[in-house]
Amino acid sequence: MSDDKTIIKKLPEHIDRLSEEALSLIDNIVRETGLPIYQDPKTGAPMWLDVRELRLRYVIPVKNIEEFFKGLRNGVVRTTKCKECGTIYFPPQPDCPKCRVRNMEWIDIDGEGELLTWTVINVKPLSFSHLKDYIVGIVRMPQGFNILAWINVDSHEKLAPGMKMRLKVGRRDPEGYITYWFEPI
Ligand SMILES: [Zn+2]
Repeated sequence: MSDDKTIIKKLPEHIDRLSEEALSLIDNIVRETGLPIYQDPKTGAPMWLDVRELRLRYVIPVKNIEEFFKGLRNGVVRTTKCKECGTIYFPPQPDCPKCRVRNMEWIDIDGEGELLTWTVINVKPLSFSHLKDYIVGIVRMPQGFNILAWINVDSHEKLAPGMKMRLKVGRRDPEGYITYWFEPI
């Protein structure tokens, strides 16, 4: 993962440029109307954009769970199982909070589970606001733990509790990064 392709020197400058474009749209609105209020594109509701900026983009060290990302690159979802007590954690964790030790093994997740519950997300966080409404569900896996993930299905009306779901790995558009989701079997 630390090859030349993944070394970024100019990322902060690039992020600044993107942010400037969005803010210049708001500046235009302020110039024309006198207030930083725009209409929400979906509901038409007036929204105040605070003049104070709070930028939050997480950078998370992933060395301890690098196996998880190697798995995704190979089309497999992997997670950690405590060698002491046998508990399986998802998402993977480097330490067992029950045993308070670092003694985990990596396991491949069995790809089929049962749908426990789901919800349709139509009020989206800003970072997902460019996407259509999507469904997030919780699926019980045969190895005895749950996975929260997006569910890929044309309509939520096709879903029912207890339905068999298959875990899939692939690239998600438009971002193009590799992730996992469920589909009905
Ligand atoms: Zn344990």
